[in-house]
Amino acid sequence: MAQPTISNSTDFIRDIIDEDIRTNKHAGRVATRFPPEPNGYIHIGHAKSVCLNFGLARQYQGTCNLRLDDTDPAGESMEFVESIIRDVHWLGFDWGEGRLFYASDYFERLYSFALEFIKTGNAYVCSLSPDEIREYRGTFTEPGKESPYRNRSVEENLSLFKRMRSGEFEDGAHVLRAKIDMAAPNIVMRDPIIYRIKREPHYRTETKWVIYPMYDFAHCLSDAMEGITHSICTLEFENNRPLYDWIVEKLIPANRPKQIEFARLSVSYTVLSKRRLIELVQKDYVNGWDDPRMPTVTGMRRRGYSPEAIRKFCAEIGVAKNDNLIDVALLEHCVRDDLNERAPRVMSVLRPLRVVIDNYPENRAEVFECQNHPQNPDMGIRQVPFSRVLYIERDDFMEDPPKKYHRLGPGREVRLRNAYVIKFESMVKDEQTGEVLEIHCAYDPQTRNAPPAGGRKVPGVIHWVSAEHGVPAEVRLYDRLFSIEDPESEEDFIPNLNPNSLEIVTNCYVEQSLKNAKPGSQYQFERLGYFCVDADTKAGKPVFNRVVPLRDSWTKIAEGK
Ligand code: ATP
Ligand code: MG
Repeated sequence: MAQPTISNSTDFIRDIIDEDIRTNKHAGRVATRFPPEPNGYIHIGHAKSVCLNFGLARQYQGTCNLRLDDTDPAGESMEFVESIIRDVHWLGFDWGEGRLFYASDYFERLYSFALEFIKTGNAYVCSLSPDEIREYRGTFTEPGKESPYRNRSVEENLSLFKRMRSGEFEDGAHVLRAKIDMAAPNIVMRDPIIYRIKREPHYRTETKWVIYPMYDFAHCLSDAMEGITHSICTLEFENNRPLYDWIVEKLIPANRPKQIEFARLSVSYTVLSKRRLIELVQKDYVNGWDDPRMPTVTGMRRRGYSPEAIRKFCAEIGVAKNDNLIDVALLEHCVRDDLNERAPRVMSVLRPLRVVIDNYPENRAEVFECQNHPQNPDMGIRQVPFSRVLYIERDDFMEDPPKKYHRLGPGREVRLRNAYVIKFESMVKDEQTGEVLEIHCAYDPQTRNAPPAGGRKVPGVIHWVSAEHGVPAEVRLYDRLFSIEDPESEEDFIPNLNPNSLEIVTNCYVEQSLKNAKPGSQYQFERLGYFCVDADTKAGKPVFNRVVPLRDSWTKIAEGK
C-alpha cells in the first residue's frame, strides 16, 4: 500500500494529522467520516464538512465513511437519506464500496455496550423526572447533586434497563445515565444520559426499539467501531470531548479516534440551522428544499451553482478554530469565477423594447456567427439570426438621457453587439400614458461585425434578440433570502425574510440557440449575469434562474473599498 502523504499543511487539522502520521499513530492510517443526521437536506455548512472529511481522505490516501447518524427517530426519513447520498455525490465525493453506514445498524451492539456499562458499574437507571435531572445537574458555579437512584444494584439496573427496552415504561419514566462525577467542573461529565425511552417509530427499525442511545453515546462508539482515526466535528462539541474519550476508553480502548473540533460555517443573509430550514420549507416560506434561494446543496444546484464553485468556496474559507460569519459575497464570487470560465455567452432580453430597423428589408434575415466564449475559441461558435424587428432591453433606451449614457436615445448611435451600428430615428408612444412602445432606427450596412473588421467605433454596445427568432422565456431573479446580515442570531428570524427575494419576469426573449436548452445548463446572458435553465422548463418554453449578476461585490470588499 502506498504511504500516506504528508501535506504542506494548510490548517491546524492537517497539522494534527501530519504529526499523527509522523509518530505512526493509528499505524499511519487516516480514516474520517461524514455523519449527517437524515432529518433534513444538507446545506453549505455540511458541504464544508464534506469537503474537509472526504478531502482529507483523498489527500492522505485514507478513507471517509458516509454514516447516516440516525439515532433519533424524530424527523428522520428515507427521503433525507436519499437526498444526502445524491448531494454528496454531486459535490464530487464518494465513500467507496462498503463504506455507507447507518448508526441504526448498531442499535443491537450499542445496547450490548450499555449492558456492559451497567455490569461494570459505569451506568445506572435513573428515575428522576426530566425536570429533576436538570435541577440536580447544578450550574457552572455549583456542583450537581447525586441522583437518589445512583447506587442501584447491578441486578436492579439490568432488570430495569431490559424492561425499558421491552416497552414497559412511558417516555421519560427512566433513563440510563453514565456514572461519572456529579461534581465535575465540566457539566457534560455530570452523569450524562446515554439512553432514553422514546416511543416513536424509526424509519428503518420501525417499532423494534422504544429506547434510543443519545448522541454522546452512539457517536463515539460508532466512530470507534468503524475504526475512524480523526473524528472531526464542530466547536459546540468541544465540551463533550472528555465524555467521548471516557466512553471509548472504557468500551473499545484499542481504537480511540481523536475528536477534533473546527468552526461551524455561518454565511451572511441566510440561516443554516436545520430546525429553521425545516420551518422555511414546512411553512411554505420557500418552494421546497430545492428552492434556489435556499442554502441547501439541492437549492444551490437548482440555482445553477456548480460543485466546483462550492468546493472552491470551501477551500477558500479554510478551517479555523473561531466561529465567524462568512460574507455571502465570497460564495457568489466563487460561483461567478467558475461560470466566467465555462459558461457560454448568449444574448437575452429580460424587459423587451421593440426596435424596428426601417431601412432593413422586410423579409430578410441574416445570420451572425458569434463566439461562445471570448477567451476560449474551443467553445466554438453559434449562429445568431438578425432581422428587421428586434428587442432590446428597455433600459438601454432613454428619451432624455444624461450625457454619460452610452446607449440609445434621440439623436444617438449604438452598436448592436455582434452586429451593426444603428441610429435612432423616431419613437411611438402610448397616447394616454406616454410610455414608449417602439422605437425606429436605421442601420449602417458598413458596420457589420465589431471593429476593426466592421469599421466605425461607437461608445455604446448593447445586446438584442431578433423578434421573429427569439424564444419567449420566463426568468426568475433571486435576491438574498433575508434582508439582514445575520438572521441566525435573531430570536424570531421569519420577520427578516426579504420580501423581494424572488422576482419572476415573464415576457423575456432569449436567443434562438436556447430554444431546447437542457435543465441545468448555464449561460452568461451578456451584460446581465449568469443564468441556468430551471427544471420547470417545458419544451419550447424555457425557464431560467439567475445564478448571480455580473457585478462582483466581493472584489471591492476584499480590496477594502
Ligand atoms: P443542527 O442544525 O440541528 O445543529 P447539524 O447541522 O449539526 O444539525 P448534522 O446532520 O448533525 O446536522 O451534521 C452533520 C455533520 O455536518 C456534522 O459533523 C457537523 O459537524 C457538520 N456540520 C453541520 N453544520 C455545519 C456547519 N454549519 N459548518 C460546518 N460543519 C457543519
Ligand atoms: Mg448535529
